[in-house]
Amino acid sequence: MINRLNKLEQISNKLEGSVALRKDWNRAVLNYAGDFLQKVNETNTFNLFEEDDILKINFDISENSVPVDDVIQQIKQDIDKPGLNPASGGHLAYIPGGGVFPTALGDYLAAVFNKYAGIYYAGPGVVKLENTLIRWMCEIIGFPKNALGNLTSGGSVATLIAVATARDVKKITSKNITKSVIYITEQAHHSVNKAIRISGLNEALIKYIPMDGNFRMNTVNLEKQVHNDKLTGLNPFLIISSAGTTDTGAIDPMEKISEIAKKNNIWHHVDAAYGGFFILLENYKNKFKGIEMADSVTIDPHKGLFLAYGTGAVLIKDVNALNQTHRYQANYMQDVVETVAEPSPADLSPELTKHFRGLRMWMPLRLFGLKPFKAALEEKILLTHYFYNEIQKLGFETGPFPDLSVMIYRYVPKNTDANSFNLMLIDEVKKDGRVFLSSTKINGVIWLRLAVLSFRTHLRTIDTALEVLNSLIMKFS
Ligand SMILES: *Cc1c(COP(=O)(O)O)cnc(C)c1O
Repeated sequence: MINRLNKLEQISNKLEGSVALRKDWNRAVLNYAGDFLQKVNETNTFNLFEEDDILKINFDISENSVPVDDVIQQIKQDIDKPGLNPASGGHLAYIPGGGVFPTALGDYLAAVFNKYAGIYYAGPGVVKLENTLIRWMCEIIGFPKNALGNLTSGGSVATLIAVATARDVKKITSKNITKSVIYITEQAHHSVNKAIRISGLNEALIKYIPMDGNFRMNTVNLEKQVHNDKLTGLNPFLIISSAGTTDTGAIDPMEKISEIAKKNNIWHHVDAAYGGFFILLENYKNKFKGIEMADSVTIDPHKGLFLAYGTGAVLIKDVNALNQTHRYQANYMQDVVETVAEPSPADLSPELTKHFRGLRMWMPLRLFGLKPFKAALEEKILLTHYFYNEIQKLGFETGPFPDLSVMIYRYVPKNTDANSFNLMLIDEVKKDGRVFLSSTKINGVIWLRLAVLSFRTHLRTIDTALEVLNSLIMKFS
């Protein structure tokens, strides 16, 4: 046995590597990252690919080690190249963000020292850091000092946590679920419907509240609907509004919605995954009035703080409620010292062992300070206003004047079907590759979207987008 152990140690020690090996790996990774960043503004935003080529890719692992340069080469060829380059400023589709570099440094260190981020007792500094970031987000949206929440993998999980908590606070069970009502609009993000289903609320009644001409929830309709539902013996328990919808960036009237929620004892969740961080701008704060009255909020640092993908957040006023839904008990956890200093993420989320997400968020905020973040956010709004004006000059029709940095527009050709024409434009933009745009369908009408939220998107990027669209109109209309 001792012989075998010695032999095994010899082989397993390879997992530690050596100073020289680590140096070599660092060199290869840093060179590649440096090269990528150097060229990020010159390379295509979208690279068309053949499915056949993807089918041929071989990511298989084997018993043997592979030199780092071969690994990097494959990452470059098979992962980095095909499809969308979300780090590019030309990414103007869905909701971009970019991925500020210090996110990578935070992830790197978090992985090297592998601090335990689930429980205060194991990593008090880790948990304090994450809670400080959560409290900072609570503060900027106007939540009280004792509010908290959780750093999640993204907005979808954040909303799931909020919906499950609302379900328990409002005591929705098999006994009353079919009479219980959730209020949203057609413009709610699909992650909301997903959260409702995953949290076992599929049998609840979902009522879609009509919207005004700017795609904002109509609160007169909301109030009437809640009133009628109560009269007919139903149980209104949850309203989910949006502070920045994905389709058009519309902000629901949160103050009025919060009032209706309070008056009727309904949980109000605000999906601010996309729009939330614009509240940092003094000039735009009033658009978010009433968000501070909500019970819970979803906000995505991997959108409005331009972090690389992997960090969302849920903010909740009633931390006790959050804990009640996510509490656990296990004999093998009995040595964990109970503490009141800082609540642990494991007590406030579905996760136990988790990624130390705080560092990837804190490092950029710390290294840059808030100033350039705010400047970038304001820049994105003004770029969208600029595009709104310029695209009309090219003969496009526009949707409502944008609340934030997302807007819709479309070209209506004289002789062909507008919907298929605009879908064709999207395909052609993809083939061109310089910028990347996406479309949506609202009441049967196809609209093109512009979503400006990458920190790398600047005036020249928007001019390129206009140039691409203009040349397509010249060619096809
Ligand atoms: C992006 C987005 C979500 C989903 O968040 P993920 O981080 O992608 O999971 C939810 N709501 C809105 C409004 C969004 O823009």
